[in-house]
Amino acid sequence: MKDVYLSIGTNMGERYENLQHAVALLKEKKEIELIRISSVYETAAVGYTDQADFLNIAVHLKTAISSVEMLKICQAIEQELGRVREFRWGPRVIDLDILLYNQENIETESLIVPHPRMYERAFVLAPLAEITPSPLDEQLQQAHDLLQQMDCEKEGVIFWQPFNEPSIVN
Ligand code: ATP
Ligand code: CA
Ligand code: CA
Repeated sequence: MKDVYLSIGTNMGERYENLQHAVALLKEKKEIELIRISSVYETAAVGYTDQADFLNIAVHLKTAISSVEMLKICQAIEQELGRVREFRWGPRVIDLDILLYNQENIETESLIVPHPRMYERAFVLAPLAEITPSPLDEQLQQAHDLLQQMDCEKEGVIFWQPFNEPSIVN
């Protein structure tokens, strides 16, 4: 089984429900075992800043699914929740990124792992650090070390609330 870490973000519509819906869809897959889900963090938008605040979580799962197939699952969930690609880094109903895949380094046209921008993003590292098992592998150690050097408050990242799984998702 591979250890996989995802980052899930949203800043449109019912943000918390969007997160719950995405997690429920992951959980539905018999090939995926959800291990841990972080608390929810709220973050002011970076890049294109004239948009609503984001909610972000990180998820640890185990699966035998390949990295390419995992990306397809993430994109299918984005589709199912109605993500429309307007412009890069613009508002989105849901975004699922593969942060880490079994300590591998992957570089293909459609997939780069570790996620190329994860180490500079406090809104990715804060939830990720919360759900990492010890001892830390090299990639997770780097995530922890870099988070240590960041000031989350200054980066606009604040603890929002624990993630409670929904009993029913329509
Ligand atoms: P960012 O990648 O900076 O977080 P984004 O999530 O808004 O930006 P998207 O429009 O969701 O970017 O994705 C653009 C492309 O990134 C996808 O079509 C996908 O092929 C590619 N991609 C490369 N590496 C990854 C990864 N680790 N996880 C998810 N998508 C990836
Ligand atoms: Ca992203
Ligand atoms: Ca993405």
